[in-house]
Amino acid sequence: MIRVRNLRKSFGRLEVLRGIDLDVARGEVVALIGPSGSGKSTLLRCVNLLEQPTAGSIAVDGQEITAPGFDVNRLRQRVGMVFQHFNLFPHMTVLRNVTLAPVLTGRLSAKDAEERALELLGRVGLRDKAHAYPDSLSGGQKQRVAIARALAMNPEVMLFDEPTSALDPEMVKEVLEVMKQLALEGMTMLVVTHEMGFAREVCDRVIFMDEGRLVEQGEPQQVFSSPQHPRTAAFLKAIL
Ligand code: ADP
Ligand code: MG
Repeated sequence: MIRVRNLRKSFGRLEVLRGIDLDVARGEVVALIGPSGSGKSTLLRCVNLLEQPTAGSIAVDGQEITAPGFDVNRLRQRVGMVFQHFNLFPHMTVLRNVTLAPVLTGRLSAKDAEERALELLGRVGLRDKAHAYPDSLSGGQKQRVAIARALAMNPEVMLFDEPTSALDPEMVKEVLEVMKQLALEGMTMLVVTHEMGFAREVCDRVIFMDEGRLVEQGEPQQVFSSPQHPRTAAFLKAIL
């Protein structure tokens, strides 16, 4: 579903991604872990073309998204992204936040988008908040709206960038639960997270990234209990 080859990204003279090769199969759920500044967000943002790669190639479902002239909007319909800080539109109701993209892109009529949005809000347990504004919601609720909003485009891939890092501890679980449900339904997911419980329970694979490279990967159980690389071991020791 995702194929990354020799991906490089520099900001000026700062080399942030130094040759990434990554394959994510359809329906696979992959956790991306690693220290702050290792390039995790930049990698995710490249897969959604929020950043333009400096070199290398990325294909989503066989389509070369890094090819010249590729339609970014079409890609964004297929790849949903959820950010640490939700990024909801504060001046719009929850319902409008969720219907906006499918309506603006002409994917759904206003009526169909609303129906779909209510269904998605139901799935994340927030149907009763459809007419509320983001400011009146808790962090966990906002993030669940953000997930519903991303799903409104019917994406084939979901990217999550530390979706629970900005939440109070008591709200982490409700968001992880929604993500787990999505994973069980077969969504292809690439998740930057420090929630090792989630990685262990839900993810098929864990990748440890450091200084712009994928250092180690494997089944969660294996990576957590017997990391092969000293930097993985040091990182896990520091966070667990
Ligand atoms: P992580 O998500 O693993 O913490 P990031 O991908 O956010 O790492 O950042 C990796 C490095 O790239 C950091 O040194 C960061 O400061 C730098 N960086 C990220 N985005 C930009 C940008 N738009 N301009 C300049 N430097 C950036
Ligand atoms: Mg980051």
